[in-house]
Amino acid sequence: MNVLIVYAHPEPRSLNGALKDFAVQRLEAAGHTVSVSDLYAMKWKATLDADDNTAHVPGTVFNASLASKQAFVDGTQSDDIAREQEKLKWADAVILQFPLWWFSMPAILKGWVERVYAYGFAYGVGEHSDHHWGDRYGEGSLAGKRAMLVVTTGGWEPHYGVRGINGPIDDLLFPINHGVLFYPGFDVLPPFVIYRTGKMDEARFAQSADALGRRLDELWSTRPIPYRRQNAGDYTIPECTLREEIARGQVGFGAHVAH
Ligand code: FAD
Repeated sequence: MNVLIVYAHPEPRSLNGALKDFAVQRLEAAGHTVSVSDLYAMKWKATLDADDNTAHVPGTVFNASLASKQAFVDGTQSDDIAREQEKLKWADAVILQFPLWWFSMPAILKGWVERVYAYGFAYGVGEHSDHHWGDRYGEGSLAGKRAMLVVTTGGWEPHYGVRGINGPIDDLLFPINHGVLFYPGFDVLPPFVIYRTGKMDEARFAQSADALGRRLDELWSTRPIPYRRQNAGDYTIPECTLREEIARGQVGFGAHVAH
């Protein structure tokens, strides 16, 4: 299988760097082919702007969505964007690995998503009508592939528990898991999170690497998070709202998971 690791940490000798190296070795030892997009090493351009469409005419109004669509269709996207899209098409599984920074992914990784997820590639896919609101949330260009987050946090695990002050980790990661990964079609696996990284030592690193290794071994057999598919009957279209009888009385992120 082909595995793409999109990795966002500025320091190769960091904990994240060590975990990324471990993951590559583990996956390759299991016979997989691994490609790493090391965003800092690549000096990835994080900001989406008019330069992303090589056909942009200076002085004309830049519309982010329409420029993205035009560049994708016409083949005038900047090369760095097109290369990452090819890697996504090549991959059977994608891992986004990053330290939690301000309760989300580092800006460089957000910029990778914004630029690589072009209109026509990751969104704006499929029929858009009053009967079918696009191929998204369980369908789309990346359907059939698996994805998983590997995240490290400074905060302790209970800080991210269901009543923890930071908010539940599943809620914090929902915009990435559901919005960034499930939206274009990935089957999203439960995240692998290492908490309280300030208390890392060699023994704990060995335990953490071991646990990560098991998750990587089970990449193809782990049950994905059962997010509800937009076009499988749970939602009214075009409102894209849960039908009254589905998850009755439930609101918030959890309602979109079929338990
Ligand atoms: P490092 O700093 O590289 O290492 C962490 C520890 O692991 C160190 O003690 C190091 O010695 C040890 N270590 C590294 N490699 C190894 C190895 N191979 N073997 C054994 N030990 C090793 N945290 C939150 O919880 N929520 C937030 O919202 C949040 N926001 C942040 C925002 C910013 C801008 C920053 C800079 C940090 C934030 N943090 C937050 C903390 C951040 O999540 C952690 O600092 C990060 O996850 C640690 O990962 P790292 O790879 O940078 O670790």
